[in-house]
Amino acid sequence: MLYTFAVVRSPLKAVPDGASEHGHYFGGPAEGLGIEAGHRFARILTLDLRDPRLSFLRLGTRRELPLVMDFAEGGIDYSMREDGSLVLHSQKESASASLLESELPLHRVRLEPIPYEQYRAAIFASAGPDAEFLSAEDSAALKAIGETYTQVGGSHARASAYRPYCANPQCDGYGGQVTQMLATISQTPAPGVSLEFLPYDPAIEFAFCQTCHSISGVIVPD
Ligand SMILES: [Zn+2]
Repeated sequence: MLYTFAVVRSPLKAVPDGASEHGHYFGGPAEGLGIEAGHRFARILTLDLRDPRLSFLRLGTRRELPLVMDFAEGGIDYSMREDGSLVLHSQKESASASLLESELPLHRVRLEPIPYEQYRAAIFASAGPDAEFLSAEDSAALKAIGETYTQVGGSHARASAYRPYCANPQCDGYGGQVTQMLATISQTPAPGVSLEFLPYDPAIEFAFCQTCHSISGVIVPD
């Protein structure tokens, strides 16, 4: 079971850190996913579920949660089998060529909590007040969190308004279940890992179905 309440209360920032004690990483080979090789599907962010900071992700015995993008379709929907391989729910053949020409280099990641003041300032600022309305404290907190960052869990102040429907035909919520944002990936999440080959300076967002925990990823203009 995965608890939306716990997800929203656990805002984490994914920081590139080669010395991270857990096995989170940006990029890396698509091996082990059980899907077509080549340069169409790529791991964007792989989360090590043994990290206690991710205890809100209760995904059974799985060791990792790979957030994967389809760079031919620009979006993806999948569930995970117990062995970590993926079941794709969206179209498996694509008429488009992949925009990705080589796999993204692997870069290790550390997850750290977003400080309360920064989280509050980011959410408040996203609700509408312009910069002049913010207190000096909130302005400083916003500056500290940065303009682009990769977030896992929590409410996503920088996310688009788009929320995909569940695409898993085996799910009771298929086609209509409200999905919850899980991760927003910045355009250059780590040194050497860049999404600049995509048009319109996009970010990537990953949401999950609250019933079946299938993952939906989409590329959105930043
Ligand atoms: Zn579902």
